[in-house]
Amino acid sequence: MPDNSGLRLVALKCKKCGSLLNADARDVVFYCGNCDSGFELINEKDELVPVDIDFAIPNKKMNSQVVYYPFWVFDANVKIDSRDAAGTITGFLTNIFGKEDKKVGKFYVPAFETQLENIRKLGLEFTKNQPEFDVIKKGILKGCSYSRKDAEKIADFIFLSIEAGKSDMLRNITYSLGLSSPKVIAVPFYRLDGSGMVDGIIGVNI
Ligand SMILES: [Zn+2]
Repeated sequence: MPDNSGLRLVALKCKKCGSLLNADARDVVFYCGNCDSGFELINEKDELVPVDIDFAIPNKKMNSQVVYYPFWVFDANVKIDSRDAAGTITGFLTNIFGKEDKKVGKFYVPAFETQLENIRKLGLEFTKNQPEFDVIKKGILKGCSYSRKDAEKIADFIFLSIEAGKSDMLRNITYSLGLSSPKVIAVPFYRLDGSGMVDGIIGVNI
């Protein structure tokens, strides 16, 4: 989780072109609007490590302001070694990738601060949908307050919340999500009248 001490001992300058990186106090991932490079601040080392950041182009157009919110996206290779429950053991992959025989896909983890229920809902819907979209390199990315390590833990939370939410009384599960090749995708959201917003890729309301 983000370090709230307020101390930041590294200069937030792009390692590639030297431009100042635009960031909020709790951000741990930065996008250089000058040369389109991405970096993650590794707190233990106080070091900026390159990370691939892309901006998704909305599939759904709405007449409303677009705001980008970051997700960590991993290649996932899900293995369930054992699952101890009273009822059926089928269905777990359907709940992750939308298909029973699909074990490999992208795992999406929201990386911005929002209610836990929104993180669960968005992570689940994006991972289940495996959406297709085009990306560009231009924009402003703010609000990425979870590191890739945080995101791996949140992926477990999303996965377990699905498994535990089933009706068959899960008692024990041994699994690995096989997360690799982390990158950041900035997902476009539209602000809705009143409150809340909806993403422009698959249309999840939060
Ligand atoms: Zn730069």
